[in-house]
Amino acid sequence: MNWKRRIGQVLVFVALTILTQIGGIVYLASKLAAAAMGMRRSSATLLAFILIYVAATASASMVAPIFGRVPISCTTRASDTVAVQSSIYCLLNRNYVTPSMLNLVSALAVDVNQKFPGTTTVVLDGNFPFWDGFPLLPHLSHSDGRKLDIAFYYKDTNGDFINRATRSPVGYFAFEQASPGDEQPCKGRRDILTTRWDLDWLQPLFPTYSIEEKRTAFALEWLATEGVRRFGLDKVFIEPHLRNALGQTGDAIRFQGCRAARHDDHIHIQVH
Ligand SMILES: [Zn+2]
Repeated sequence: MNWKRRIGQVLVFVALTILTQIGGIVYLASKLAAAAMGMRRSSATLLAFILIYVAATASASMVAPIFGRVPISCTTRASDTVAVQSSIYCLLNRNYVTPSMLNLVSALAVDVNQKFPGTTTVVLDGNFPFWDGFPLLPHLSHSDGRKLDIAFYYKDTNGDFINRATRSPVGYFAFEQASPGDEQPCKGRRDILTTRWDLDWLQPLFPTYSIEEKRTAFALEWLATEGVRRFGLDKVFIEPHLRNALGQTGDAIRFQGCRAARHDDHIHIQVH
């Protein structure tokens, strides 16, 4: 085999592992399976990959509890109070959390919906199903099941709440820009080693929804009170300018630091 092909295979293995955790191993298995059946064509490997990947992803939800993780359900019934933003997250095995995190987000969603009927709480990246210490990039800390990102609640330009909507198609990177007088601890910094990306070129592509303040403030307040008292919530990360605008002062609501990703496109929560 020529070396270019070998390097290509290593890159595919690494990319699939970073993106989905089990994808790299499934890729190796599909190569072996195709070879064992005497089929060397890439279409045979691709078919084997899809079949094994689907089986492995389905099995992951049954095996993950051994590693202390459970999946957030990807079924999309209209009556669900909590929903994963896109089935892509489930397809990539990024919807796993500890049982205590699942309890917390489920209770949050029920209470938000009770206060504002017809509201679904939308979640983004959780963690992979297996092995503590295996990060879910680009979130370095999402490596132990105890972390979860929640989307903001949004309203349209008329001020009407839009259920399950996010500004960005994946829920991330549509930033709420601070105004000149706002608290901006990272203003003027030029860090090279940082995951605080501004992605200015991307911003004009997103719809002009804005944060629905009542629901988002209620959720933050719930997290800092009920979440801490009853569900072992440790921290909530959100940018200071949004915390201030939403009138939140709870001790659990913190700033993540300037080298971590911006948190004015989503809320990060973690449990003890
Ligand atoms: Zn996070």
